[in-house]
Amino acid sequence: MNPSNFHSIGTPGQPWGEAEKAVWLSHQARKRSYETDVLSVIDRLRERFDVSEYGRLDYALESFPLFAIRSRNWREDLPYALVTGGVHGYETSGVHGALQFVDLHAADYEGRANLLVVPCISPWAYERIHRWNPFAIDPNRSFRENSPAPESAALVKLVAPLRDRFLVHIDLHETTDSDESEFRPALAARDGKPFDPQGIPDGFYLVDDSEHPQPEFQKAVIDAVAKVTHIAPADAKGEIIGSRVTSPGVIEYALKKLGLCAGVTNAQYKTTTEVYPDSPRATPEQCNAAQVAAVRAALDYSLAHDR
Ligand SMILES: [Zn+2]
Repeated sequence: MNPSNFHSIGTPGQPWGEAEKAVWLSHQARKRSYETDVLSVIDRLRERFDVSEYGRLDYALESFPLFAIRSRNWREDLPYALVTGGVHGYETSGVHGALQFVDLHAADYEGRANLLVVPCISPWAYERIHRWNPFAIDPNRSFRENSPAPESAALVKLVAPLRDRFLVHIDLHETTDSDESEFRPALAARDGKPFDPQGIPDGFYLVDDSEHPQPEFQKAVIDAVAKVTHIAPADAKGEIIGSRVTSPGVIEYALKKLGLCAGVTNAQYKTTTEVYPDSPRATPEQCNAAQVAAVRAALDYSLAHDR
């Protein structure tokens, strides 16, 4: 089945049941290796950082250990910072941007912040280059107590005891052409709804928290990323993917209400990055560098404005 035909699973207008989800799952092939691409990099970081397994996903015959990377000299008196990537497994630069940040820049924050970096929250989907987990659930609508997504439940459990300690959380994502060609049509089919194309913005943007917006913080991140890659313009309606642009390159969502990863802590400063890897003007290296620039700017701004 061609990816563009996923919407043909099931009966139009009716949500998928278990049979339709099984058909969808049978078409998901493993395309790359979490072990080769991600675990090998995490292994090399063990020399300089504390790495711990915070959960494990057991799916059919496969088992995926989940890893968190921490600053070695963790001190209770320092601000806490959370960096998450790979909530959507196909969003490659979120995973590799988080790892690159740890490798190249995490040491700069020693003695200034306790860093907790979770680079690949959804490894099954990383390998399939997909958005959902094997239950056809989007982990990024599932960050809540009693989550139906094991990927989200594991992060919620890891972060829960520290939820009020974080100063800043940056969650690394991408918006891809496959969102419009594959994942949104599949979502519409799964839920028995019509597919309403929104268009894909060309460039980087951020998602702020509509319940607790921090426009100056978002601007600092946008300014840093603009030096690496271009920022998405608003469309003719003044929107990006159907949401009002509140300042250049920034839209807002109700993070906690929607069960989004960026709502998993009570940090004062929260943002979600959206890199556009399919732009003719962006290379994979640039996408990773944009994620790294965003993380550094988010940390630098929040540490300078810690109240
Ligand atoms: Zn995403």
